[in-house]
Amino acid sequence: MTDQKNIRNIAIIAHVDHGKTTLVDEMLKQGGIYRENQAVVDRVMDSGDLERERGITILAKNTAVHYKGTKINIVDTPGHADFGGEVERILKMVNGVLLLVDAAEGPMPQTRFVLQKALELGHKVIVVVNKIDRLDARVEEVMDEVLELLLDLNATDEQFESPTLFCSARQGIASYSPNETGVNLDPLFDTIVNYIPAPEGDPTAPMQMLVSSIDYNDYVGRIAVGRVERGKIHANQEVMVCDYHEKHAPYKAKVVNLYQIDGLKRVPAENATVGDIVCLSGITDISIGDTITAVDTPEALSFVKIDEPTIEMTFAVNDSPF
Ligand code: GDP
Repeated sequence: MTDQKNIRNIAIIAHVDHGKTTLVDEMLKQGGIYRENQAVVDRVMDSGDLERERGITILAKNTAVHYKGTKINIVDTPGHADFGGEVERILKMVNGVLLLVDAAEGPMPQTRFVLQKALELGHKVIVVVNKIDRLDARVEEVMDEVLELLLDLNATDEQFESPTLFCSARQGIASYSPNETGVNLDPLFDTIVNYIPAPEGDPTAPMQMLVSSIDYNDYVGRIAVGRVERGKIHANQEVMVCDYHEKHAPYKAKVVNLYQIDGLKRVPAENATVGDIVCLSGITDISIGDTITAVDTPEALSFVKIDEPTIEMTFAVNDSPF
């Protein structure tokens, strides 16, 4: 069980092709999760073909890397505008974001929405100017564009003065200044550990966890993914489930398997503490937005509403002169 103070939960906001997958791959390689005989799985975060086709990343997949005793959970965010509260739900699991920007292309309008949500939640931002190795990189201008964007989105003074790193994800290097060539990603890891706060919450309070997304697996069925907001959770624990849709009263259930994320994989865990992002199986009817709690304290957490897909049409009398 990783101690709360040694956990960092972050999301990466990036326009497609700005290098998010390459950066996460490189963090995994350097973060030391790969066993000697384990092949490095390339290009992990965007494996969905449909996403590729549309040029956006939809699925929220989680990754965790370890750096000097700290576990960094990386939550993938959709790089586009909202699909019914999804962005907020995912951003609520983290305490900070990396704003990853291509050093030649600069920030793109498609990432505004997600960035704005992160800023509104008061999250800390680390600006990562990527692909500084590109011959057409225009680092100074791109930094100005990022500042303009932050200003435009009403960033707080602190968010406006976010630390900036200069990076070539492809070469696996980062530095604190554009005039300095990095040797590895340590400056990025150190900034994450030092600048992004550890998750809050009382580890001794009765357990409470919000289901932020659902995964499915043929063997174990529905898997609830979310952050422990309070207390501790363990495998085989009896819990209460507060139904977000309030179709029925809180009901008793049992967590069968508890998993944590290690690298790209879900690994079984005995227990997890407040702040950690966990996956659990065994609750057949679990849905996004439900709260899983200790048996004696069925207290639901507030949740960002899931919108039904809607289409709006306006009908009017034809008042054209023709
Ligand atoms: P994603 O869509 O944000 O996940 O972007 P990818 O990681 O798939 O990267 C998109 C393209 O940019 C790929 O061809 C990468 O090899 C390339 N790329 C990523 N990082 C760098 C970098 O630091 N420098 C250069 N020159 N290319 C990069």
